[in-house]
Amino acid sequence: FHDEAVGRAAEPAATRDGTRILVLANLGDPGGTPGAVKAGAEGCGLLRSEFLFLDRAAPPDEAEQRRQYQAIADALPEGAPLVIRTLDIGGDKPVPFLDMPAEENPALGLRGMRLSLRHPELLRTQLRAILGVTGARGVQTMLPMVIDAEELRAARIIFEEERAAAGLDDAPLGVMVETPAAALLADTLAPHADFFSIGTNDLTQYALAIDRGSVPLARQVDGLHPAVLRLIKSCCFAAARAGRPVSVCGSLGGDPLAVPVLIGLGVARLSVSAGRIAATKAAVRALVLDDCRQFAREACEMASPQAVREAVRTRWPELE
Ligand code: PEP
Ligand code: MG
Repeated sequence: FHDEAVGRAAEPAATRDGTRILVLANLGDPGGTPGAVKAGAEGCGLLRSEFLFLDRAAPPDEAEQRRQYQAIADALPEGAPLVIRTLDIGGDKPVPFLDMPAEENPALGLRGMRLSLRHPELLRTQLRAILGVTGARGVQTMLPMVIDAEELRAARIIFEEERAAAGLDDAPLGVMVETPAAALLADTLAPHADFFSIGTNDLTQYALAIDRGSVPLARQVDGLHPAVLRLIKSCCFAAARAGRPVSVCGSLGGDPLAVPVLIGLGVARLSVSAGRIAATKAAVRALVLDDCRQFAREACEMASPQAVREAVRTRWPELE
């Protein structure tokens, strides 16, 4: 299974009954792009843009940011999606050039979209850089840590101003669904969002109230927890009704045992670390969509993530 997976990593992946599932790479800087493409990435489903902002006394200007985004776009196949997430610093990632309050619970504090809306000048500069990437590029902008439609609307106003100023008729703006609030309110976000991408790392942390980095509880921070699955289901349901695509860009997407459940809930794109691309595509090729749909419904009713994992293993022993 493993050797065959690696051998076919460059080919697109479809389920046995022919549903194409896009497998993209998560990137943390431009340097990782060629390796991800070689590993079979069909684009970048999550560029964590924090690398541009950390460990420096002043934020990067528009030109510097654009150079970096353009370098990634140029290293991907022409027209391939490149989803650039706006700044997600704050929380556990300090920002030396901003006067940040000390917070007792930074994961529940001033971070992501909340920080961007309080520093719109930072957000505008980044949006200009993203919208300035040239050529036949599938550049898409994505907002982290959104919790409601009001926040999204405020960000979209800024985005639309910058889009118009850049002379673009159209540019996609999507949201990360990584808070339970966003998953539950996905139907109210959908009118303002061109796509959803589920950040299962934070979604799991916030749904289960377990720190994603907890050492003693590491085995329990499992995105296959039925509570997390129901949140994903809520998001997928709302997205399907509104005709919006859903991807998963948290690490759950690169877990072969999770692939049938995610696909069954309606996820059509999986963005994973480069090292997980071959295994993720192999998992997709082992599945039949209708079986996944049926199984996903059952998984949402199970008693624990362990029960879900056991059931996947029993049904698809080849996934391990
Ligand atoms: C997530 O939360 O699942 C995610 C993809 O974002 P990050 O890991 O950068 O918080
Ligand atoms: Mg996150």
